[in-house]
Amino acid sequence: MILYILQEPILRTLNFEHRYNLKDTYRHKGLRKSLVKTIQEKGIKDKRVLEAILKIPRHYYLDNAFVELAYQDKAFPIGSGQTISQPYTVALQTELLELKKGEKVLEIGTGSGYQTAVLLELGAKVFSIERQRKLYQKAKVMLDELGYRPKLFYGDGFKGQPAFAPFDKIIITAGAPEIPKDLIDQLKPGGMMVIPIDDGSHQVMHRLIKSSDGSEVVKEEHGMFKFVPMLKDKASD
Ligand code: SAH
Repeated sequence: MILYILQEPILRTLNFEHRYNLKDTYRHKGLRKSLVKTIQEKGIKDKRVLEAILKIPRHYYLDNAFVELAYQDKAFPIGSGQTISQPYTVALQTELLELKKGEKVLEIGTGSGYQTAVLLELGAKVFSIERQRKLYQKAKVMLDELGYRPKLFYGDGFKGQPAFAPFDKIIITAGAPEIPKDLIDQLKPGGMMVIPIDDGSHQVMHRLIKSSDGSEVVKEEHGMFKFVPMLKDKASD
């Protein structure tokens, strides 16, 4: 009996690795170190963001065909016509959020779940919405197996999550055609939203800061990026 109790966690780990082919080797860790150096050189300063990127095995969140490339600073396909964001973009969006431990964050576009994991590593309570059913299901299993406990939703991020509002911070990980009004309404006074807004050919990273009386929104611009589009309604694939 005692032997069984001792072995049980080991068996669980082996079973998990077998099912998802998850192994984080010294080689992966070394590649992550260089990735962190690269994004630091591109201007990311927040130590907690860099530590999260160093800690999280990004290759777990990629399709098998791209695992070898996981530590390049690039976006890659994750199925359903979507991509995992480039690590620099993930880092910049997270840095702009200026997260404090315990803050409530709404993420639009769970995708692979990688950005979700970064937010959780920074101590946020994460609510994340994905409109592609398969991606939602895959991220749910993966994050749960890795021990993360976000609240994930399959739905249309334009509508936000009024039942859990207001949020301290909101992050949108797809290119928005405009600022979604429902999301502004669900932001706390003094809260911030980081959102790439489409200008026709690129997306301009915006940080929107709601005034402490809630009556005004200040807009800042933080450079041009490439994102998949933020689309209306749910998709069943
Ligand atoms: N953070 C993710 C980014 C994935 S790409 C990652 O790094 O893996 C953007 C994601 O936003 C896609 O998965 C896409 O399906 C999703 N998306 C686009 N429009 C959406 C909407 N209206 N509501 C919820 N998710 C949306």
